[in-house]
Amino acid sequence: MGGGGAPEVRSTCPYCGVGCGVLLRADGQGGLAVRGDPAHPANRGRLCSKGSALGETVGLENRLLAPRVYGKETGWDDALQLVADHFRDTIATHGPDSVAFYVSGQMLTEDYYVANKLMKGFIGSANIDTNSRLCMASTVAGHRRAFGTDTVPGAYEDIEEADLVVLVGSNLAWCHPVLHQRVLAAKKARGTRIVVIDPRRTASCDGADMHLALTPGADVALFNRLFATLYEGGAIDKAFIARTQGFDDTLRSALNDGLAPTGLDAAEVEAFCRLWMRTERVVTIFSQGVNQSTSGSDKVNAILNCHLATGRIGKPGCGPLSVTGQPNAMGGREVGGLANMLACHLDLENADHRSAVRAFWNAPRVPDAPGLKAVDMFRAVGDGRIKALWIIHTNPAVSMPEADAVRDAIAACPFTVVSDITARTDTARLADVLLPATAWAEKDGTVTNCDRTISRQRSVLPAPGQARADWNILAEVGCRMGFGAAFDYASPAEIFREHATLSGIAGGFGRDFDISGLSAISDGDYAAMEPQRWPVTATRSGNRFFADGIFFHPDAKARLIPVSWRAPAAKTGPRYPFRLNTGRLRDQWHTMTRTALSPRLSAHLAEPFLDIHPDDAEALDIDAADLVRVTSPVGACILRARITDAVQRGQVFAPMHWTGETAPSARIDTLVAAATDPLSGQPESKASVVAIARH
Ligand code: SF4
Repeated sequence: MGGGGAPEVRSTCPYCGVGCGVLLRADGQGGLAVRGDPAHPANRGRLCSKGSALGETVGLENRLLAPRVYGKETGWDDALQLVADHFRDTIATHGPDSVAFYVSGQMLTEDYYVANKLMKGFIGSANIDTNSRLCMASTVAGHRRAFGTDTVPGAYEDIEEADLVVLVGSNLAWCHPVLHQRVLAAKKARGTRIVVIDPRRTASCDGADMHLALTPGADVALFNRLFATLYEGGAIDKAFIARTQGFDDTLRSALNDGLAPTGLDAAEVEAFCRLWMRTERVVTIFSQGVNQSTSGSDKVNAILNCHLATGRIGKPGCGPLSVTGQPNAMGGREVGGLANMLACHLDLENADHRSAVRAFWNAPRVPDAPGLKAVDMFRAVGDGRIKALWIIHTNPAVSMPEADAVRDAIAACPFTVVSDITARTDTARLADVLLPATAWAEKDGTVTNCDRTISRQRSVLPAPGQARADWNILAEVGCRMGFGAAFDYASPAEIFREHATLSGIAGGFGRDFDISGLSAISDGDYAAMEPQRWPVTATRSGNRFFADGIFFHPDAKARLIPVSWRAPAAKTGPRYPFRLNTGRLRDQWHTMTRTALSPRLSAHLAEPFLDIHPDDAEALDIDAADLVRVTSPVGACILRARITDAVQRGQVFAPMHWTGETAPSARIDTLVAAATDPLSGQPESKASVVAIARH
């Protein structure tokens, strides 16, 4: 399998949060052979179509190879000094909250750590947020409310040990394909039942035992019904409930919520609830259909409530499992990459936590209030409060809701820096300074996947042109801003040791994220590090959390959170009669910077489209393949109609990948209003309202 030539290098797939291990062999001419790593616990040799095609995406044809300042190529020295001077001058004139970083789950943990340290420890603002805000911020908020920390309780092995897997708001077959293969393998091996809860009939319904096509946004009502059924059926675990608070209020809320919002037949809901209640080993996998909602945090807690009330958590084959969209969304959470968090799951609003981090970093200041979350950050760019912005490995001019307004805000920002591997993104085109960063196969560092497994990404190709590692670029700017020794890093291993040491301090505060067992890891051991699930301490390694019924709130008890169904923010009506759902395709990734380079990936579904129900198409005189104009209160797109009963009447679906370069009239997030969950700040990307007409 491995072939001859250069030795294979063990690394990690840079796409989704499954975090599959890959074996890479460079051909010496810029090419790369890729196969699944049989020894990696996430995938055991499997890869999906995107991972298999990675070798087709490493060409240099679109690469940014030298820094550019106001459109002209320059050297690193000039570019870095300009960035440092501009940020320092802006802060001196307007204060630390006049600058912001918008970063990405594509960054390695070491990159993320340095960015977070620079902004929260030395610039003295919490205005660093990440595109993970669009991905799983609602899960973070739900975990913290229930557990006291942002803790993923279980592990992928639970899938193989479950008798029921419930997929909620997750097209696992397309978005986390290797995990879906594990679910199907469990079905074959032990007869695991599969339930899909999703307004659409997706590829994940193939092989499922039940599909509940609920009304968009109605998850809370459905899980409240489940909670009530568990109570009425005598399935509450009284011993485990003693380890929680909030049962009575939660039950009251659950009993008050009716089924009407779900749009489901009472008998099918009853069948689902009975199946859940009678099955001891239940894993509930949830993703963007839960998170990307103005009630996303409540949806998460509605799911967690059911697992906590029955003690179905922290045991083999049991528990809630959030699956993240990005390769290192979890690493970003661990370093405090969200504007409302501090490093190592410490709390920004806790004075003891702040002073411990400040002392550890020997930092001049740590802000005592959360920074601007993504939607608010770009509003602040738009209204002039943010005057210097650094965007790293993400494309908000396409991917943020109200993308036209975000694009215009970035264009008008007095100073915008973009670090990326290419200049050919809608956002990079707006930059004053473009910094060439190394790409996935050239990088060295760590990532954390959905089940807390830390894996190494290892460089197998040389950095092209003048491209540099993100940690190095950020540290250079930190040094040039006058923060000297704090950013004098020689390698990612050195950063990792610092991060691991800080996690030991967090562990002392009773935080879950503790990898202090790795704080003295040698360069050689870091280079050879095997995938391992945190925590990693002198006494503990990455097992399940909460088996002992001990949680991270001060009283060690979990919280059941009373939640009630709320409709999506935008209401359908005569002007905008359709509900628009957005999502990923099997073979594309984000705004297609990499996947569009692979002909076979692009062949899967080659152009943007809108799925519409046959009855709606007929009523609007729309035939298959017609171009249709889709209009929302905030934007408009032109898409090709696909007529399918996979979507319900009154609902339409469109993929979110196309950009100003690949399909200017199909930037889907121009249609999405920037309504957010009040707790998590996550935008409602799956419940916009639109009108449709033949073009
Ligand atoms: Fe990569 Fe995710 Fe596919 Fe695994 S499942 S190969 S991590 S895209």
